Amino acid sequence: MEEQFEILWNTIRERAKALVNPISYSTFIEPLVPVDIVNKKIVLQAESELAARTISKNHMNQLREAVVSANVGLTGAIIYVEGSEEYAVRETPDAMEETSVLLDPRYTFDSFVVGSSNKFVFAAAKSVAENPGENFNPLYIYGGTGLGKTHLMQAIANEILQKKPSLKVIYTTSEKFLNEYVDSMYTKKGAGRDSETRFRNRYRNVDVLLIDDIQFWAGKYGVQEAFFHAFNELFSQHKQIVISSDCPAKELTTLEERLRTRFEGGLIADIQPPDIETKIAILKRKALEKKFVVPDDVLAFLVKNSDNNVRTLEGRLNTVIFASKLHEEPISLSLAATALQEAIGPDEPEEVTPDAIIRATCSHFNTSKEDLLGKNKRQEIVRARQVCTYLMCDMLALPLVTVGQIMGGRDHSTVIYARDKIAELMRVNDKIAKDVNDVKSAVLKQ
Ligand code: ADP
Ligand code: MG
Repeated sequence: MEEQFEILWNTIRERAKALVNPISYSTFIEPLVPVDIVNKKIVLQAESELAARTISKNHMNQLREAVVSANVGLTGAIIYVEGSEEYAVRETPDAMEETSVLLDPRYTFDSFVVGSSNKFVFAAAKSVAENPGENFNPLYIYGGTGLGKTHLMQAIANEILQKKPSLKVIYTTSEKFLNEYVDSMYTKKGAGRDSETRFRNRYRNVDVLLIDDIQFWAGKYGVQEAFFHAFNELFSQHKQIVISSDCPAKELTTLEERLRTRFEGGLIADIQPPDIETKIAILKRKALEKKFVVPDDVLAFLVKNSDNNVRTLEGRLNTVIFASKLHEEPISLSLAATALQEAIGPDEPEEVTPDAIIRATCSHFNTSKEDLLGKNKRQEIVRARQVCTYLMCDMLALPLVTVGQIMGGRDHSTVIYARDKIAELMRVNDKIAKDVNDVKSAVLKQ
């Protein structure tokens, strides 16, 4: 599994070489080993705490610059030392991390393809970005996975930050918000009230607050309460609030009634799955961003065998682009069919079952069903498990809780974590995108 990190790291290391003096480079930077990607940061293993300390003290800015300028979708680096407390990897690095770190600059209104399935929500998002707090408050965006909610939310944030830099904008996920809330509760009991005050001030002194994926708060009343208070304060001061979820507000049954009423008092806009023309337009746009030209018959082929998830559609395109780079061949229908291991002809897909996904994952990653659904923490198995979870979410219309049960009785937050982790990796990592697509085509062929 490490070789894909290696490819990314090679590109980054080249950049770093130009930024760091040669002696420090060969002593400290060159020996680093890429071991993971966490929160869009590459995790680099140093040989000792001493080395890690030197890098942290003297070279972090250069490393960050190298990562960003390598333009591989990553935003920074984390230095890690095996067995060290100080240089351990924390999945949620700094709870109060700045919004800008979470924002992907590629998610703009310009790069969002508008079709009949999303033109209403697009217009609403644009209007909110132009006049925050004035027109639709709160704006509640909902739709299935991979249909562009996060893209639109971040487009709003990016646009406001660019056009009205004096406004304080916070984009965060419900999961981060929850973590910060929990952190602030713990510190309240222990080392003073600092963290609680910071939490409160952070969310009460903003002009625009965007919270992604609030279905994650299901049943978590403490955090809903905290948000309710922040919401009321912001709302009464005409500050803009934008929320996204995978279902309509009224279906969030474990959401406090008064919050639900608040949401329903604003504008509720849904994103529908794109039609074929929109899917093709999206693919064209994504190919263009990567500076690839994809012939029309290949676009039609990519769309034909796809489901409604734009993220996986993009994954199919990435697989084909990767194959084209690998074999140094232009993109053609036969290259695409081979890369995706799909027949060009029209055959009827069988009904997809959880079992088919588990079988295909086990055979692709060469692991047993017991390991896949069990507690084994070996990295390859954890990755296979995450891919399997991702595909369950992606290919089956099952509730997250059910997916958790099928995956060996896991919590629904574990399911969300695995799903988002793979989605994130697929964006920056052609190898993982290919793994996922291979398993997926195997499922469709069973
Ligand atoms: P969601 O948050 O709804 O699960 P995302 O916003 O993460 O979905 O979208 C998944 C991927 O699909 C992203 O890479 C996004 O850029 C892309 N995407 C979705 N809809 C569109 C669209 N209409 N135009 C361009 N890209 C899109
Ligand atoms: Mg999202």
